[in-house]
Amino acid sequence: MKNPYKIALVVLISICWLSPELWAEPRNMRIGVFGVHQAGGDGADCQGLVKGLRESGYQVDIFTNMKPLSLARFDLVYLSDMQRPGRVHENWRKDLQRYVKSGGSVLQTWHHHLSLGVGSGVKRIFDSRRMAVVPGHPAIDGIADFNATFKDHIIEKVGPSGTPLLKNDAGDIVAAAGKLGRGKVISTGLALAMPNGRSSQPPKGNDLKLLQAFLKWLEPEVTQKQRLSAFLQKPELEISVDSLSTVAGFPTTFTVTAAFPGGKSVTVECPDAEVNASPADTKMPEWVRSFVISVPTARTAKVEKTLTILARSGDQRKEGKVLLNIINQTPPEKEMRGVWLHVGNDRHPTKVMPELKRLGLNTAMLRIAGGTAAFFASKVQPDIQDPLAPDGDWLEVASREARANGISLHPYVNNCVVEGRTSEKTLAKLRDAGRLQVGRNGRIINWFCPSQEVNLTAMEAIMLEIATRYDVDGVQYDFIRYNNSDGCYDDYCRALFEKETGHKVANWPEDLNKPPLVDEWTEFRCRRISAIVERISTKIRQQAPKIKISAAVFRDWPDCRKAVGQDWVRWCKEGWLDFVCPMNYTLNDELFAKRTEIHRDALPAGFPVAQGIGIASGRGTMTAPAQVALQISLARKFGAIGFVGFAYKPKHTATLFQPLEEWLGE
Ligand SMILES: [Zn+2]
Repeated sequence: MKNPYKIALVVLISICWLSPELWAEPRNMRIGVFGVHQAGGDGADCQGLVKGLRESGYQVDIFTNMKPLSLARFDLVYLSDMQRPGRVHENWRKDLQRYVKSGGSVLQTWHHHLSLGVGSGVKRIFDSRRMAVVPGHPAIDGIADFNATFKDHIIEKVGPSGTPLLKNDAGDIVAAAGKLGRGKVISTGLALAMPNGRSSQPPKGNDLKLLQAFLKWLEPEVTQKQRLSAFLQKPELEISVDSLSTVAGFPTTFTVTAAFPGGKSVTVECPDAEVNASPADTKMPEWVRSFVISVPTARTAKVEKTLTILARSGDQRKEGKVLLNIINQTPPEKEMRGVWLHVGNDRHPTKVMPELKRLGLNTAMLRIAGGTAAFFASKVQPDIQDPLAPDGDWLEVASREARANGISLHPYVNNCVVEGRTSEKTLAKLRDAGRLQVGRNGRIINWFCPSQEVNLTAMEAIMLEIATRYDVDGVQYDFIRYNNSDGCYDDYCRALFEKETGHKVANWPEDLNKPPLVDEWTEFRCRRISAIVERISTKIRQQAPKIKISAAVFRDWPDCRKAVGQDWVRWCKEGWLDFVCPMNYTLNDELFAKRTEIHRDALPAGFPVAQGIGIASGRGTMTAPAQVALQISLARKFGAIGFVGFAYKPKHTATLFQPLEEWLGE
């Protein structure tokens, strides 16, 4: 036993012998996490979750298509937040159900609406972390009562095959497990791996322990071969897109997967395109193969054409089509080409403004204040967080550098939100003074109550200060809305609602969220935010008539009226804005185009819109200059005056725009 390898082997065997749970871990399971952002949906990003699972030894891939051949690759499909899944096909629920019945496993967390006979999420519970284990089920083996990492969760409606696993303080069920056909399902409203419910982080502590217990139980009981032969019984051809837009001059690619059960040597042909077989997936049978199809496009092309894809295996064949739309759209005159920009030491104006100029951009929207904070030498905000303080003034430097480089500067303010932009001390003061919003169940929402004169005065003062004291081209409203559908239910808002509508509300606030008052409540909330815009814009027009006024607004018109009280089309019609920037952030180009068209149709003819493009946003990060070019072209197609990328990041912004320099032109 002198050989070190042998010693190592013995040590390893001993460890395994001593800790059976170590070698029993289901690390061979192949997990597919549905990438909501990659599919163009809204919800928490899954990158942190995927990273955490990989660090724990799981084999994990992100997938973006719920069609059978995409599902077939995985032993377990993980749906981490499905409130708005984006581009899923019409029958995705049925296909997922068939996948489970054939022996696949599904874990769904946080926002989840598929029952699969086990459980689906029905109602969000705020500020409740304590979870009690319902003993007896193997999926919860070894787990004791615990506190969840995220303060909120969603409770379950348990289906006929579901067994409760966890309950909250009120005794509502928060997780259930069950079987459907030969497969297994766990549904839980816990935002596992999402400490704030919005973006994922590698799961830790109790979250990780629970997740590992769930995954262990979810390990399939049937072999992959059994599952595939039950799930894939006929030839299938899956194309990653139905239609494809691309900018003339940029090549475009998509993937095709073909399956011919029991067949051999699958081939794919596509005229006018380059077809390359992807490396064989050794975990899949040889009758399933994927191909990458690249379509070159000429710089001067402007066409819509249909590509035909033909897959064969022996005498079996399967055909599919993709509609290719090559866009070649000339820019509007003096196109607005901008980025949103934050204050920070790594993005000093002396560096950033020349860089923007070099990249062919001409506009900067600079976040300069929010809540009670100012990132410049403000005389009206109590919390100065200027990196150049106490001697310098970031806004003064930014405006000088912007002028010197021909950049149009539009500082913006996070108007209604307070949390995260203010000092703890000021936040406590505002809370004590009753100036913050009150939500359901009386909890405080750290946003300004829009019915209090003292708050309106404060919001007005900072916008006016920027417009009158500094050499800037414009000012922009941001966070000019409610946080969500909750609030504000304090005495100020109650008195104003009853006065404006003439209704005495018997059960405040419950009656506001159902007929007959619900619509009046939506209108009331819209009026509160609109009143802020009207007041401030009117003052700016009087005191600084040359200043262009704009707003960063929600992309999902008109749903944002009800969702957050943001009636922005009205602001444009009333003349309170000079242009508007919908935050149209998505990696899904079709969705981007659809919204751009809706914005154009909702606004008065010719009202200037600069489309917000999510280059590095909470909805994902763009990596290809071609995608930026495509969204710019789509904005042009629907009559935008330009675009604003959210948000500038040192290095990243240059990697996207540098290659577009020639394409953007003058
Ligand atoms: Zn209020």
